[in-house]
Amino acid sequence: MNLRQRQPRALGLFSGGLDSMLAALVLRQQGVEVTGLVWVTPFFTAERAKISAAAIQLPILIEDLTDRYLHLLYDPPRGFGKWMNPCVDCHLLMLREAGRIMEARGFDFLFTGEVVGQRPFSQNKGSLNLIAKECGYGDVLVRPLSARLLKMTKPEREGWLDRERLLNISGRGRKRQMELAAQFGVTDYPAPAGGCLLTNPGYAGRLRDLVNHLPQAELTRRDLELLKHGRQFRLSPTLKVHVGRDQRDNEAMEQLVRPGDLLLKTLGYPGPLVLIPRAPDNADLTLPATLCASYSDAPLGAQVEVQVEGGSQPRRIPSQRQDREIFQAYLL
Ligand code: SF4
Repeated sequence: MNLRQRQPRALGLFSGGLDSMLAALVLRQQGVEVTGLVWVTPFFTAERAKISAAAIQLPILIEDLTDRYLHLLYDPPRGFGKWMNPCVDCHLLMLREAGRIMEARGFDFLFTGEVVGQRPFSQNKGSLNLIAKECGYGDVLVRPLSARLLKMTKPEREGWLDRERLLNISGRGRKRQMELAAQFGVTDYPAPAGGCLLTNPGYAGRLRDLVNHLPQAELTRRDLELLKHGRQFRLSPTLKVHVGRDQRDNEAMEQLVRPGDLLLKTLGYPGPLVLIPRAPDNADLTLPATLCASYSDAPLGAQVEVQVEGGSQPRRIPSQRQDREIFQAYLL
């Protein structure tokens, strides 16, 4: 069956933001059967996308991108944005992988909600053209909100889409998108988001420390999840310590413990969970034990025994509650 006999089918990157909702709706208005593709990693989840997709009855595919993403945290070919966000390479990766899914599942073209000039680093006209060219699917990549400002694509040439009914939105303003949302009757959409967790200064700082100390081959999803929990202290190039801030942190960290990690707990005084990921054999634990004692409820100066679990055998380290100020220099 050729496309004259059936609806064109399009697969679009779908974050759940207003622009991705509108892109899907603009195509659907032209008779395209649209599906949203939602990528997930430790830095961006599918939660908002699910809500937005339900609001416009958009079917979605949810796919994990983490393993294919890790190398971008070390050396993204097009560099990082302001923090640890490799936005251009991130878009490129998402589109390349989306292209594979498009081909495997019989979609006819790809779409995104990108708008020319909306983000200085990743959504200027040069970046959009570069991404289209380098992702390998440029001729079947439609950005419905800015399509008339960009090169004509195969779906327009072939008449699957009427270019005149695609849009020419540019810039950072939201007025036209909000008008369009009203025309489509879309009222439940999120406020513009600043970006994923890689643009969060706190997370980005901890991630930068991690990639500076852990070879890429050893980095796992668990390490990236762990960066979300607890106060984190870099005590030496091989010794990093996570100190739970509250019950939630402690529970989350406990779920992320793996063989080779050490857990430190104070005896006799309530205290936080302290986790040392990938603790080196025979590491000197005097400072981590003092850290553990100092974040416990023991009074300043009290002698505190710290239990170490997870090594070859449990052991106890005599320690002392110190002023927490002395650890500020190690805090990430
Ligand atoms: S903000 Fe995050 S998810 Fe968005 S393009 Fe940049 S790196 Fe990718």
